[in-house]
Amino acid sequence: MTKILLIYTGGTIGMIRDYKTESLRPFNFDKLLQNIPELNQLDCDIDSFSFENPIDSSNINTTHWLKIASVIEDGYDEYDGFVVLHGSDTMSYSASALSFLLENLSKPVIFTGSQLPIGDLRTDAKENLITSIQIASLQQNNKSVVQEVGLYFEYKLYRGNRTTKLSAEHFEAFSSLNYPSLIESGVHLKIFYDNLFKRNKKKKLIVHKKLDSNVVILKLFPGFNSSLLSSFINIPNLKAVILETYGAGNAPTEDWLIENLKIAVEKGIHIINVTQCSGGSVIMGKYDTSKHLEGLQVISGKDITTESAVTKLMYMLGVGVSSKLFKTVFETSLRGEMS
Ligand code: ASP
Repeated sequence: MTKILLIYTGGTIGMIRDYKTESLRPFNFDKLLQNIPELNQLDCDIDSFSFENPIDSSNINTTHWLKIASVIEDGYDEYDGFVVLHGSDTMSYSASALSFLLENLSKPVIFTGSQLPIGDLRTDAKENLITSIQIASLQQNNKSVVQEVGLYFEYKLYRGNRTTKLSAEHFEAFSSLNYPSLIESGVHLKIFYDNLFKRNKKKKLIVHKKLDSNVVILKLFPGFNSSLLSSFINIPNLKAVILETYGAGNAPTEDWLIENLKIAVEKGIHIINVTQCSGGSVIMGKYDTSKHLEGLQVISGKDITTESAVTKLMYMLGVGVSSKLFKTVFETSLRGEMS
């Protein structure tokens, strides 16, 4: 029998409706498990750990991420896999963050949640939870099939750091436009072995303990101007800017943009070019409107998601990657987060 640790952080999956205010709020984990007697039929031992105060994932912060990482570290030898129950709103950020914090994973860490609470008649929570546990239990030759941080939602397992929440309405809330799914659930679980992350087998798990959140996401829009840009780059202690550009990494070619970015780079602030499109890649130099960024040594985010870029930055700043190596390391795929 495989042993699985369920880590309950909160989210809609475990919420109840407050009939006075009509809003949803997190509730007790034991009640959540009582609602799923089906779990007893699974061929695995399930233990659980719950946040003392379960949260709506809009309240997640870096301290919670470090906590989840340390719970996994503490249970790493005892359990074969981990399922993290989490609100969908920021699940892609959390799955990305955990993928960077947990280096050389050899066991599955599967994030899941739901669009409707587990107690609702039409809930999507049961399928998401039960299949996530099954996926976390998958073994071949005494080894976990999935050896990375995944996100399971509505019949698909994705690489966590490739996902984005696209819908607040559909059960299929997430997409991974730049990387195919790892497993699909139909009558059988279909595993796409070629898509699974291949880790370096000789290396042991390293759990990183520091994230530096002195970063900012700056989304370009027509009308964006010099004073906005200069107030951002003057934020005290700012270490990196994710510039969400248009299309294949394009931005206005006006002098004020070049001047401000030059000042930022001289101050030691890292500038990362990430496209605001949900799919596709930054290709600096493809258009005239990105040549100036290339000239400023702006870092290419390639086809990384913004969620993954921001958490990769926090991780890299946390481990103290030097300024000299920063561009090379960021442009290298560390956990399969970019092609
Ligand atoms: N607001 C909820 C949360 O992210 C939404 C959900 O769980 O789907 O915690």
